[in-house]
Amino acid sequence: MSKHIPISFEFFPTKTDVGAEKLKVVHQELQQLNPEFFSITYGAGGSTRERTLAAINEFNGKGAPVAPHLSCIGDDKGRISELLDIYQSIGINRIVALRGDLPSGQVGLGELPYATDLVRFIREHSGDHFQIEVAAYPEMHPQSENFDLDIKHFCEKANAGANAAITQFFFNPDAYFYFIERIQKEGVNIPVSPGIMPITNANNLIRFADGTGAEVPRWIRKQLAAYGDDTTSIKAFGHEVIVKLCERLISGGAPSLHFYTMNTTNPTRQLILDLGLA
Ligand code: FAD
Repeated sequence: MSKHIPISFEFFPTKTDVGAEKLKVVHQELQQLNPEFFSITYGAGGSTRERTLAAINEFNGKGAPVAPHLSCIGDDKGRISELLDIYQSIGINRIVALRGDLPSGQVGLGELPYATDLVRFIREHSGDHFQIEVAAYPEMHPQSENFDLDIKHFCEKANAGANAAITQFFFNPDAYFYFIERIQKEGVNIPVSPGIMPITNANNLIRFADGTGAEVPRWIRKQLAAYGDDTTSIKAFGHEVIVKLCERLISGGAPSLHFYTMNTTNPTRQLILDLGLA
């Protein structure tokens, strides 16, 4: 059994009433694992503003705290402050602050072009009310010119007032440990929670990884390809790979784990039970 560290779960806002009902069930099931918080993603440019808010209202006050994601690119300070005020008024005290990615075709970065600007703005507008989480990329943000610059920009976000960070998913624990070493050398000591993506479907995994710049190691790709349509073997292999990754991260000092649930209970629940983190 691994050392006991906190866990958190990420949902995305659903598009349909049926999806929303299903998510309520998933929320209840995952609630039983005693997470530190649930976070709810936000579409860049405000594209899921109402749906993110609806999900936050649905789950707020029911068990573990909820943390809305909030992105700044293509948005304006007025709309962002409105949301901050709503969140504060309903008792939310944690926000995941992001730049976001503009939908293709949309131009204009808005008043706050980078996550650092958003963190600064939240501090100006809401003081110390919110615990601010930001994004981290152990394998480098895909648009970054180089790793050193990405580390510099990450440290600027922390120094602007972020309290903690959650990483993009990754499968190489050494990338995470090296990232931590590098930011600590810059004097940044905020906790960085590894983002964990369960492996259940080879095509989806490779699609997500290509979209986010996360590297799927050759040995994982090859093994997934060898299983073809054998979903049982893919899930069993994926489970084993992620359990071992989490064990390495925990024994190496990761402060907590954040799970990309994809709005489903399993396989996240099975991972947490097998890691002894419930
Ligand atoms: P930033 O920290 O602003 O960095 C973006 C890029 O700009 C990096 O390459 C950085 O090195 C560079 N940069 C930063 N500052 C400067 C500067 N001053 N000058 C020049 N370059 C600079 N997206 C959503 O739309 N909604 C979500 O809910 C969402 N949730 C996420 C949750 C997590 C845990 C993670 C890891 C990502 C999430 N994303 C989400 C994706 C994220 O918005 C994208 O990865 C986006 O491309 C970068 O966001 P960021 O906050 O890391 O941006």
